[in-house]
Amino acid sequence: MIKYIFDFDDVLFYNTSKFKKHMYKCFEEIGVSCDAIKTYYQEERDKGFVLRNLVISVIDGEKISSVNVDELIEKIMVECKNFVNNELIDKIKILGAEHCYMVTHGVTEYQMEKINRTGIRSLFCNIVVVQDTKKWSIEDICENFINDEVVFVDDKEKRFVDLDFEKYPNLRIVHYVGRENIADIFKENSFVKV
Ligand SMILES: [Mg+2]
Repeated sequence: MIKYIFDFDDVLFYNTSKFKKHMYKCFEEIGVSCDAIKTYYQEERDKGFVLRNLVISVIDGEKISSVNVDELIEKIMVECKNFVNNELIDKIKILGAEHCYMVTHGVTEYQMEKINRTGIRSLFCNIVVVQDTKKWSIEDICENFINDEVVFVDDKEKRFVDLDFEKYPNLRIVHYVGRENIADIFKENSFVKV
């Protein structure tokens, strides 16, 4: 059986196109300009993005008293469940959790909170959060299922560059660009064991 490994942000979850926009809107509603948030966001991203740290820097930096940290975090995070890629999730539900893995990049606690809030956790037999390369997690799965095709789906091409395709001929990558290539993920098994 084919094993599937999915990235979270911008694959399973509309992080850039929906969640980030919603987050910016929540800040604008309390009077922080879009440009100001972008500056704070950039600073936090460089440190390893955690929403709580961004909210604290903005509230402190802009001297906001109309809302407290936890309220604003909740207002932002409560919408996570509405930003999942349902078209893709519907396909994953059919596969069965024992064939599906998630390997995501970011700060573990924050990534896990986003994942838990989306309610898709049970669709995956294992979820790994990495802070640097995904290579070891991906190749571990390839090693464990050396006789099966392993399909790794990510929106960032840089996640593919250090993978050892010679050692793992069972690994197939799909550069996810949007709903137009969902079919590529689930195309027929092309791996022939030699
Ligand atoms: Mg991604």
